[in-house]
Amino acid sequence: MKQVTTAASCCHPAVLLRYLARGLYRRDADGALEKRCPRCSEYLPADSEFFYRSRDKKDGLYRWCRACFKEWLSARKGSRGEGAR
Ligand SMILES: [Zn+2]
Repeated sequence: MKQVTTAASCCHPAVLLRYLARGLYRRDADGALEKRCPRCSEYLPADSEFFYRSRDKKDGLYRWCRACFKEWLSARKGSRGEGAR
């Protein structure tokens, strides 16, 4: 059995298990946790390096990855009047 040493971002093992069952999370070949971004459908390390932190979320991370979040933010800014190219 591998120890869950990489689950620093997850507050509770039961929550994590539910996320794993739903496919929101998965483990990569090394046993490291990856979280799926529903926007780009990519699995990325469940880490503050790839996901912004959120206190509201049970796992402490935002649903979307950083890249999607930035994209979404810039799209919002650009959506006013002129379209972003
Ligand atoms: Zn994403």
